[in-house]
Amino acid sequence: MASKTAQKRLLLLMPTTTYRAEPFLEAAQRLGLDVIVGSDRCHRLADYWHIPLALKFRDPDRAVLDIIRSAQEQPVHAIVPVDDRTTVIAARASAALGLPHNSAEAADAARNKRRMRELVTAAGVRCPAFAVVESRDEARLAASRVAYPCVLKPLLLSASRGVIRADTPDEFVAAFDRIQRILFHSPDLPSSPDPDSTRILVEQFIPGREVAVEGLLTGGRLRVLAVFDKPDPLDGPFFEETIYVTPSRLPQSVQDAIIACTSQAARAIGLSEGPVHAELRVNETGPWIIEVAGRSIGGLCSRTLRFGLGITLEELILRHAFGLEVDHLQRQGEASGVMMIPVPATGILKGVEGVANAKAVPGIEDVQITAKPGQMLVPLPEGASYPGFIFARGKTPGFVEKALRRAHRRLRFDIVPQLPVAGGG
Ligand code: ADP
Ligand code: CA
Repeated sequence: MASKTAQKRLLLLMPTTTYRAEPFLEAAQRLGLDVIVGSDRCHRLADYWHIPLALKFRDPDRAVLDIIRSAQEQPVHAIVPVDDRTTVIAARASAALGLPHNSAEAADAARNKRRMRELVTAAGVRCPAFAVVESRDEARLAASRVAYPCVLKPLLLSASRGVIRADTPDEFVAAFDRIQRILFHSPDLPSSPDPDSTRILVEQFIPGREVAVEGLLTGGRLRVLAVFDKPDPLDGPFFEETIYVTPSRLPQSVQDAIIACTSQAARAIGLSEGPVHAELRVNETGPWIIEVAGRSIGGLCSRTLRFGLGITLEELILRHAFGLEVDHLQRQGEASGVMMIPVPATGILKGVEGVANAKAVPGIEDVQITAKPGQMLVPLPEGASYPGFIFARGKTPGFVEKALRRAHRRLRFDIVPQLPVAGGG
């Protein structure tokens, strides 16, 4: 394996704060790749052997130029973005350097909820009816006209930040104001004045069960790596992700419809290469696209997936990026799942008790508390990160789900309450 990729160089684009650094760097090492890490701050990965490249992610034009300049001295053979913020930069730099990748337009549409809805709707794929509002006056007018319940959300954020359900016109306007405050305080929006960074999407609330599809596109063909059920009801007003369990317990015919819908949506958006992470709702009328992102599952959640020969999701993504065979790799073995631990309250974390007890629950593989003592915890819709993750594996999805819930009940978060801050942390 390593010999095939010897002398090959990878440019990994990742924010300093990502959880994915280690699994991607480990995968690159297993494949014998040279690695340049393009990152937005001087980071603390000093133990690793990679070459650092400082990039300004908030200024994509500049970041693309800096990548091209760096590649003239040190050619790269693939550029892999690790999260939402870097997908567009990777696509544009790849196009400039002649590397196979999603088109810049597709990467942009997968990042921008307005573009995504427009393209998916135009292709006739089922997704919520939507409208875009810009000003408070428009919001008031829309509030008196839309059908309820509806969902309001920013166009360019992720991880459910600023996603709010409204059941009445008053809730609509309050949600609009709240999202505006979140956007005003958001550090990761592009510094260039993109009008979509302050626009707000309003869409029909789709009731039903939610699933996530993890897949890999090669030449536009979707290979499904896993379908996850999200067994907790996600009815709002905020949409905190908690449990993901695979394989799905939905009937095969429903899963087939989910996969077909995902594939059509990816095609409509123009995504053709690399990972996709899609979210759908399913009810008695069939599947509905909520979102298709041109990246892999976030946080530490990729740990739930193992493929043939113990290969990780990150290794699969790198193998694909370097044109290596991936078709024979199937998800391995038993059911598995993860719980993104919900933020229990707004406040400063003092400590967490019961971790050893939670780990002792049969089926639990690991409990990772990623929040540090002294850290401010902010729930949705303002907050952006989970205090930790619980991982489980077992014979059936039902067993895995129960294990995650039991382990979670054994954790005690000691939090010094604080008043919520405008715009959150
Ligand atoms: P983000 O990119 O921030 O994750 P999403 O559009 O995926 O934003 O929304 C986050 C979550 O909010 C979804 O996973 C879903 O649970 C809920 N949600 C969003 N839009 C809708 C909708 N139209 N109907 C029902 N639930 C929705
Ligand atoms: Ca989402």
